Amino acid sequence: MTYREEMLLFNEKFVENKEYECFTTTKYPDRKVAILTCMDTRLSALLPAALNIRNGDAKIIKNAGALIKHPFGSVMRSLLICIYELGVREIWVIGHYDCGMQAVSAGSMVEKMLERGVKPEAFDQLKQNNVDINEWLKGFRDPAESVRETLEIIKKHPLVPEGMDCSGYLMDPLTGRVDIVQT
Ligand SMILES: [Zn+2]
Repeated sequence: MTYREEMLLFNEKFVENKEYECFTTTKYPDRKVAILTCMDTRLSALLPAALNIRNGDAKIIKNAGALIKHPFGSVMRSLLICIYELGVREIWVIGHYDCGMQAVSAGSMVEKMLERGVKPEAFDQLKQNNVDINEWLKGFRDPAESVRETLEIIKKHPLVPEGMDCSGYLMDPLTGRVDIVQT
């Protein structure tokens, strides 16, 4: 059985056994918090467990590195929806130590793309969309600095209302301990 088949079978039983009942909540975050964090698999269950975030407590937005790459991109859009449509009053940016984005380089990713058969002409499309691939795929060296930069983008954003409570943290992906970067 493939993992996907396993997943579908599990799902059928999950619903049949009404295992969803303990997760019932609304789309409005009970604790009025939005969290921007990394997609790192070590944090999937650890982060909510370590911070006592239950289903329904917080909006959680994830991407590689907990980054905002563009002030008018999808992360900022999600945060604005959190603020204006879902009652969010607080934003937590939670990066982590040993983040994969510390090792990412645009150059090596482009090499891998070419190896996997992406045509060199494909990169012209990025130029046509004014995307600088080196900037777009760039990682970071210091996760704390990255959290601070992300917070700055949120705090200075022209569409974020005054008085939003924004803070930043770094999580240890092994123990779940959070260190305060900025509150
Ligand atoms: Zn990460």
